[in-house]
Amino acid sequence: MTAKDCIFCQIAQGKMDAKKVYEDEHVLAFEDISPQAPIHLLVIPKKHISSLLELQPEDEKLVAHLLLSMKKIARQFNLEEKGFRVVNNIGEDGGQTVFHIHFHLLGGRNLTWPPG
Ligand code: 5GP
Ligand code: ZN
Repeated sequence: MTAKDCIFCQIAQGKMDAKKVYEDEHVLAFEDISPQAPIHLLVIPKKHISSLLELQPEDEKLVAHLLLSMKKIARQFNLEEKGFRVVNNIGEDGGQTVFHIHFHLLGGRNLTWPPG
């Protein structure tokens, strides 16, 4: 898949609708269309990177920035006290269905372990 027909690139470029909850120069967070918890957000870099396996050394700052943005978003949703979960699915066995790297941020209920 190229960036051209990537749905998350389209959301990042404002060409497709999403319920955005956080945005800065490099990162966007929006509500998952099929929420698995009371709070289920997807946090993405605006840059198209298909999965964790495609991250390059030059993405180091971007990844750190994205992680720190998740901390801000967790605070925005008052999840600090109760906790939450961050998930990144990779490839077929990981259950990845959208090939633009994204971190699920799930919270608002007690999440079980291990996941399915
Ligand atoms: P994955 O399975 O790749 O880790 O996660 C992809 C996630 O994207 C799924 O949780 C799915 O519900 C969500 N998703 C797929 N298409 C759309 C869409 O068009 N808009 C939004 N907001 N979420 C989407
Ligand atoms: Zn993309």
